[in-house]
Amino acid sequence: MYVLEKAPAKINLSLDVLYKRPDNYHEIEMVMTTVDLADQIELFLIKQNTIVIESENRFVPNDERNLAYRAAKLLKDRYEVKKGVRIKIEKHVPVAAGLAGGSSDAAATLRGLNKLWELGLDKQTLASLGAEIGSDISFCVYNSTALAQGRGEKITELKAPPSCWVVLAKPRQGVSTQTVYQSLDLSTIDHPDTSGMIEAVNKSDYLGMCSRLGNVLEAVTLERHPEVAQIKKLMQSSGADAVLMSGSGPTVFALVKQQTRAERMYNSLRGFCEEVYAVRMLGYPQALD
Ligand code: ATP
Repeated sequence: MYVLEKAPAKINLSLDVLYKRPDNYHEIEMVMTTVDLADQIELFLIKQNTIVIESENRFVPNDERNLAYRAAKLLKDRYEVKKGVRIKIEKHVPVAAGLAGGSSDAAATLRGLNKLWELGLDKQTLASLGAEIGSDISFCVYNSTALAQGRGEKITELKAPPSCWVVLAKPRQGVSTQTVYQSLDLSTIDHPDTSGMIEAVNKSDYLGMCSRLGNVLEAVTLERHPEVAQIKKLMQSSGADAVLMSGSGPTVFALVKQQTRAERMYNSLRGFCEEVYAVRMLGYPQALD
């Protein structure tokens, strides 16, 4: 038996940090959606009662540190599954990029193993299992468009955003999410308009969505990675409708309505950045089936 799942990248249309909690996590509010750039996760039932990870990406561990492994192990232990699995990960989403690639692989593994091991779990259960491993995994289980609150695990689904092109560019050096959060000074941040963003998305108001893009982590990463600012400038000058860094970065994305402009931007960024993509905004899970 065999199951194939896609694990798409997410982008933050908005990311706000409200306060630091007594448990040391930050209380956050994020509006997130998915784009048509995805890892491919293949799950094969094997005779041995073990979990085997295969990935050819040198930045991704092939052992129990892999988030897909941790997702499989959690399901196996919690539901006392006596079956094994070989998980083959084909990476397309850049690693340590602010696009939740690892979280999306873990979520795809939860969805896929629910089928392969015939567990019959609903999405809410899979999402709360995901939250035990990492904050972004709950969102990735749904793969749609949502407001994420708490430390990212409280999910309220929204309508799919207005369709457009998304040009993504990742500077060479990755960023550690933990370091960015540690460097954030909560007293100086400029909070984005999260409720305005939710309204714009739900009303399919493209210009409203563009005008409300905001990420409080952007200033922190900009300070350490000047190339992020250069990419933003280049995108702005080549016709982006709006530009923002995703998550803790360093990937920057531009929203563009017209395909020709997205292609032009893609070509001008290629000379500057190794990892550039021009893809469609998805925002709803059906598009991946
Ligand atoms: P987020 O946006 O959720 O903070 P990210 O996009 O910044 O995540 P990831 O691509 O998820 O970052 O990678 C973060 C780290 O997780 C990497 O250093 C990598 O070694 C590790 N990792 C573990 N499993 C995976 C996986 N399946 N794919 C990618 N990275 C993984």
